[in-house]
Amino acid sequence: MEIKSKIQVAILGATGSVGQKFISLLSDHAWFEIAEVAASERSAGKLYKQAVNWILSTPLPDEVANLEVKECEPNLKSKIVFSGLDSGVAGPIEENFAKNGYIVISNSKNHRMDRDVPLLVPEINADHLELIKTQNYNGGCIVTNPNCSTIGMVISLKPLYDNFGLEEVNVVTMQALSGAGYPGVASLDIIDNIIPYISGEEPKLESEPLKILGHFRQNHIQDEEIKISAQCNRVAVIDGHLECVQVKLKKKATKEEIIKIWKDFSAEPQKYNLPSAPLRPIYYFYEDKYPQPRIHRDIDKGMAVSIGRLREDKLFDYKFVVLSHNTNRGAAGGAILCAELMKAKGYI
Ligand code: NAP
Repeated sequence: MEIKSKIQVAILGATGSVGQKFISLLSDHAWFEIAEVAASERSAGKLYKQAVNWILSTPLPDEVANLEVKECEPNLKSKIVFSGLDSGVAGPIEENFAKNGYIVISNSKNHRMDRDVPLLVPEINADHLELIKTQNYNGGCIVTNPNCSTIGMVISLKPLYDNFGLEEVNVVTMQALSGAGYPGVASLDIIDNIIPYISGEEPKLESEPLKILGHFRQNHIQDEEIKISAQCNRVAVIDGHLECVQVKLKKKATKEEIIKIWKDFSAEPQKYNLPSAPLRPIYYFYEDKYPQPRIHRDIDKGMAVSIGRLREDKLFDYKFVVLSHNTNRGAAGGAILCAELMKAKGYI
């Protein structure tokens, strides 16, 4: 799809870990250009380069470095706002923007489970965007991106769900440090260590996939009924969440059939050839030692999910390992893909 002139966008929470990823990914985007950045009153009024502690390995883009950081008030000229706001403040700020006519695409948890808000993974539930029409926001709207661990897992589950049905899922995650924002977990807590708890994470992994795989019913999503059990751990990896998943299927499937449907999986982002869409949403590795965060997290623009170690399981039917990039596919990249899908389908 060709865009005549780029669409101006703003980033709320632009100084944070997800905000920086938004800037890096949008700085040379085919359809969008960063017109405004906003953050807390601690940063507002400063130049972005003075307010931010830039932690990415890609350089801070010149055109953003000298933007003045604004307050998160709905007086911005950009009608599309990406939110990487701290969840302690995101709820009312995002709602205020939507009520004032802005299209808000958020990474924060606050509105994910609202009855009228799509919890969007473009490869899975593009039809849920119709929920926007039931929102009462004066022309504005809120669309959300799932939790970073949910995204990787649910992309691996979608082809299984479509082809064989899913009864039960058990998942144990090993989640990267960048998922805790910056400065995140204290070094003395995580070096030589694993922390077997991430606040609020397990309930999200157990509930969000049910909405994502759920069915659009005019004004709400009817959740899918799958039993999911999750245990989440923080490990000393910078980027990339690894997840050990066990599944019980409704219909019998062979290992070869499962690998084939993963490899063949393709959906609307690929059909529309969206700028941030991976060529293939899923890469399967046959080597026993793969996937690994450091080696595979950046595959296909950091937007693909890597899977390996598929084998039969004595308790469930199958078990496997999933890897996805938490700030890219799991946050900023995923949200940008949502905006691209909205543009391609005429919601923007
Ligand atoms: P972070 O590094 O702590 O950044 C938080 C951002 O929110 C900063 O820009 C901060 O601005 C801004 N902020 C804080 N208080 C504010 C206020 N009162 N008013 C306006 N802005 C305020 O957090 P993060 O890791 O980027 O995460 C951002 C959101 O995305 C969270 O809701 C998180 O749960 C979600 N998320 C994160 C990941 C991940 O992998 N990191 C993945 C998926 C979803 P200042 O710099 O001015 O304080």
